[in-house]
Amino acid sequence: MKYKTLKGLQDILPPDIAVWHHIEATARTIFRSYGYQEIRLPIMESTDIFIRSIGETSDIVEKEMYTFEDRGGRSVTLRPEGTASFVRAYVEHHLHNNPAPQKYYYMGPMFRYERPQAFRYRQFYQIGVEAMGIDDPKLDAEIISMLSRILSGIGLEGLSFEVTSIGCAECRPGYKEALKQFLSDKLNNFCSDCQRRYELNPLRILDCKVPGCIESRNGSPPVIDHLCKECDVHFESLQKNLSVLHVPHTINPNLVRGLDYYTKTAFEVSSENLGSQSAVAAGGRYDSMVDEFGGPPTPGIGFAMGMERIIPLIKESVPLPSGPDLFLCPLGNKATEKALVLAEGLREKGLWAEVNYDGTSLRSQMRKANRIAAQHVIVLGDEELETDRASIKDMTGGQESKTELNPSSLFNLIRNNK
Ligand SMILES: [Zn+2]
Ligand SMILES: [Zn+2]
Repeated sequence: MKYKTLKGLQDILPPDIAVWHHIEATARTIFRSYGYQEIRLPIMESTDIFIRSIGETSDIVEKEMYTFEDRGGRSVTLRPEGTASFVRAYVEHHLHNNPAPQKYYYMGPMFRYERPQAFRYRQFYQIGVEAMGIDDPKLDAEIISMLSRILSGIGLEGLSFEVTSIGCAECRPGYKEALKQFLSDKLNNFCSDCQRRYELNPLRILDCKVPGCIESRNGSPPVIDHLCKECDVHFESLQKNLSVLHVPHTINPNLVRGLDYYTKTAFEVSSENLGSQSAVAAGGRYDSMVDEFGGPPTPGIGFAMGMERIIPLIKESVPLPSGPDLFLCPLGNKATEKALVLAEGLREKGLWAEVNYDGTSLRSQMRKANRIAAQHVIVLGDEELETDRASIKDMTGGQESKTELNPSSLFNLIRNNK
C-alpha cells in the first residue's frame, strides 16, 4: 500500500462512528441541563500559550508538543489540551464581563507526540468543560457530579472517582520544601529529567512516568498534609458536597496532574476495565490562570474526558445503526425513474431511502437489500407502475402490505412499522 496514516493517528470509520455519536449526543444533552454552552477553538495556538500555562518543565512541554514554525516564522503548536486555548479565548473576548458562572464545553482533537500504545494516540479526542468565575467548592462538586452522570449515561460501569487538593500559591512553597527534603538523599535514583526538575519544579517529579522514578518517590509526603487554612476548608467542603450529591469518591493524596496550572481541587476518574491506562477523565481547578493570561483574577475549574479510552469500554453495548428505511428495487428504466422520484419524496420527509441503480435481477437486488440491512423493500415492475400500487416488505418482521405508490402512503406505512 502506498499511503498510510501517520504513526499514532487513526481513521474513525463507520460503524465505529456510531459509538462516537452516542457519547457526544449524551454529553450534549447533559451539558445543556447544567447550562454549559459549546465553544469551538482553533487547534493551533502560539507556542507561548502552552509553555506559560502547562509549565516549562512539564512532560507535555518538554517532550510531547507538535511545535513548528509557520511560514511567517512564528512558533505555533497543535494544542496538547484544551484549557490553555480556552483561557486565551476567555480573556481575549472579555467573557469575564458576563455573569458568573460562565460555563462552556468543547469537543475536538488534541495532539501529543507520545509513544503510541493501547488507547493512546498522538491525535486524540477530548470532550472538556470549563466553568469560570466561582471558587465555591459546591461548583466543584457539581461538575464532578455532572461528569459522573455523563459517564454513566454513556454506559460506563466500574468507575472510581478520586479527589484531592493540590494546594495554592499560598501553601505550595511549603510543600515544595517538604518534598525536596524527602527527595534530597534519593536523588541519584531518579532519571536525569527529574534531577533537573528538582531545583526548577520538584512537583513535576511526582508525575514522571519512568518506572524507577515511580518507585523511588514512594512514600513522598502528600500535598493534603501541607494545605493552608483556605485550601483545607475548601477541600473539606468539596468532600461534604460530593456526599450531599451522592457521588461516591475516595481521596487519593498521590493524585497529581501533569500541568502546572492546577490549584486546589484535582480529580480523576478511572475504569477497572482499562488496565494500566485506566483514567477516562480528569480535571481540576485553576484559579490563577486567567490572571496570568492578562485577565482579571478569575477562578476556573474544568475537566476533560478521553474518547479513545472510553470507546473500547462501551463499544459492544452501543447498538449498531440500522440500514435504510426503504430500499427500492426497480425492474426496467421506467420503474427506475419512478423509484428515483419516490425516493426523493421520502427523503424530503426525513426517511433514508436507497434506489438500486444497476437494473440487475430481482434476486441480486434482494441480496443487496439484505446486505445493507434495509428495513423495508419495495419492488417496482410493470404491474406496479400500471396499478400505481405495490407490496412493501418489512424486512425485520417479514410482513408484507399493499400500498399506493406515493411518498405519503409509503411514509405512513414505514412510520407505523417502526
Ligand atoms: Zn492553599
Ligand atoms: Zn523521572
